[in-house]
Amino acid sequence: MSEIKDYINYPADVKKYDTSKLPKRQNFFFTSLLYIASNLAVATVKGGSKVEKINMEGLKPPYLLLSNHMQFIDFPIKYKATFPHRVHTIATLEGYYHKPWVMEQIGSICKRKFTTDISLVRSCAKVLREYKDVLCIYPEARYSPIGTQSIIPEVIGKLAKKNKVPVVVIVHHGNYLRAPFWDFRRKKKVPLYATMKQILTADQVAEMSVDEINATIRKEMEYDEYKWQKENNIRITEDYRAEGLHKVLYQCPHCMAESKMNSKGIHLFCEECGKKWELTELGELKALEGETEFPHIPDWFEWERANVRKEIEEGRYSFEDDVRVYTLPGALKYYYMGDAKVRHNIEEGFVLEGSYNGEPYRVQRTPKSLYSLHVEYDYCHIEPIDCFDISTQHDSFFCYPTKQNVITKLSFATEEMYKILTEKKDK
Ligand SMILES: [Zn+2]
Repeated sequence: MSEIKDYINYPADVKKYDTSKLPKRQNFFFTSLLYIASNLAVATVKGGSKVEKINMEGLKPPYLLLSNHMQFIDFPIKYKATFPHRVHTIATLEGYYHKPWVMEQIGSICKRKFTTDISLVRSCAKVLREYKDVLCIYPEARYSPIGTQSIIPEVIGKLAKKNKVPVVVIVHHGNYLRAPFWDFRRKKKVPLYATMKQILTADQVAEMSVDEINATIRKEMEYDEYKWQKENNIRITEDYRAEGLHKVLYQCPHCMAESKMNSKGIHLFCEECGKKWELTELGELKALEGETEFPHIPDWFEWERANVRKEIEEGRYSFEDDVRVYTLPGALKYYYMGDAKVRHNIEEGFVLEGSYNGEPYRVQRTPKSLYSLHVEYDYCHIEPIDCFDISTQHDSFFCYPTKQNVITKLSFATEEMYKILTEKKDK
């Protein structure tokens, strides 16, 4: 059975984007333009921004540049820090919505999220071996939901090994605290600090196994924004600092209810049992009454993940909902597909069924083909509310659930199913 059936009966004039196109070399005019625009963007950061370079002296491209990912400001900081070198970045189509020509001029490599695209290997080799430029990847492939490291896939180490290039990592701090994914529109006053460090030379890459390279990358890219906030005594005094936090902390640790959490001002609360927590200026949670279950926010997040994993292991997990669907076959327009049905379980993974233009369609991503899920809180391009996207190599299906506050749990379920199934395979 073919894994992905994504045929949509589009009208003939719908322009699709070919993600297998090889990247152009970045036009140096654009390298300079990016530098100027990036300087202007970084200058707007109220708390200031600093990049410390470690072990970078004398290092010239080609090299692989990996960065953690928290907010849009990550891009300007990177372009500023790498100038005058040309940097080709792996990007997603929706990142260049309405402006695919910019993506091509700056030599970005286009990919759909969490899909396997064989042309990517050729595109990366072209940047590193032929253009001899910097290849930048955000290996977590999405903004950090909770200010800690997300999954870094195996393929990153393979890419370094295959192309025999040094590995540099940028680890940003403060970007998440300034504008967390769950409340990204309002920028808080937080200083930004990043390290840019050569973690492996080309010789080290040549000597190490792929597993060793990946282990080094994962270790060097560890971060915990709330820990960093406390260690650096950064006070976030904005009186709306907790607003949106319920999108990632969706389960109440007091009464266990799911999707009943809410937030307002500096408080997070459960609408089911009424328990309330304050988010302090130093980024800790404090219950207003009774026990504080998780003062450290990422611990709450990981507790939810463990609950989802247990549900899957005990055969209790399944999700079904009616969703509104929009697709993005090209970079110029989202197509409204109307309503559809989605289900998610360990036997089938995601199955999306609907019909468009008089013909039914069915999209499936099995659990083993999807190690993580693209979710968007308050999505900026279509409807400004939460959605998730199931992508295939040729199209992306943005699904707006009817059920409230469910997308974080869906992303946990996707990641844990993948882990459970691949761990079994390893045994
Ligand atoms: Zn509760």
